[in-house]
Amino acid sequence: MIINVKNLYKNYHTGDILVPALKDISFSVEKGEYLAIMGPSGSGKSTLMNILGLLDRPTSGEYELAGQNTLLLNDKQLAHLRNKQLGFVFQRFHLLPGDTALHNVMLPLTYAGIPAKQRKEMAAEALEKVGLSDRMDFKPHQLSGGQSQRVAIARAIVTGPDVLLADEPTGSLDSENGEQIMELFQMLNDEGVSIVMITHEKRIANHAGRLLYIHDGRISQSERSVEDA
Ligand code: ADP
Repeated sequence: MIINVKNLYKNYHTGDILVPALKDISFSVEKGEYLAIMGPSGSGKSTLMNILGLLDRPTSGEYELAGQNTLLLNDKQLAHLRNKQLGFVFQRFHLLPGDTALHNVMLPLTYAGIPAKQRKEMAAEALEKVGLSDRMDFKPHQLSGGQSQRVAIARAIVTGPDVLLADEPTGSLDSENGEQIMELFQMLNDEGVSIVMITHEKRIANHAGRLLYIHDGRISQSERSVEDA
């Protein structure tokens, strides 16, 4: 398995108040699996995503990513593991507004220490894969929402990660553009990329092979998706 989470807890402290955001979360994601996580607002989805994305640490519990016990790693090692194993897709794209599509996609390769010429080639290839060869020199404000999200997906996959983490990837898009993004996810999953996707839309969640429901910080239900059945 690529992700293994065991008895995960996350508490937030705000002043004197303790907010238990995650309570005893356990699940695993097999290599090549496509998992959707659903749950109402405030149920702990973003908290879980931040931990899976190595952006935050749990209060207690275990989290193994690609065979590594992440809780034993220091911040530098976490950043390295994140860059190597994970790609991120967000609801609002998070592209750098002053940079072209090509430069946005090159960015994770800069962190990975890849030489400039190779960065350009790899970024161009990733943009071609998401169908945006003709938009490489466009800046985010010159792109539609659907195109922006495809640039963000190119940025997420350019390093060749094993896992794609997506937080409401279709949340800012109309249904047609949302479906295009789901087709891209399917293509990546067919190529072996594991996907963990947060969504509040059942229609979107049904693209995944398995659904996890989270409620009040706990996993309340797990099911195979209808399309997969
Ligand atoms: P969701 O993404 O499902 O909307 P969150 O993970 O954002 O849920 O939040 C889960 C719970 O943790 C909520 O009760 C929220 O108020 C609380 N929470 C989230 N982030 C923080 C924080 N930085 N400090 C304190 N409480 C937080």
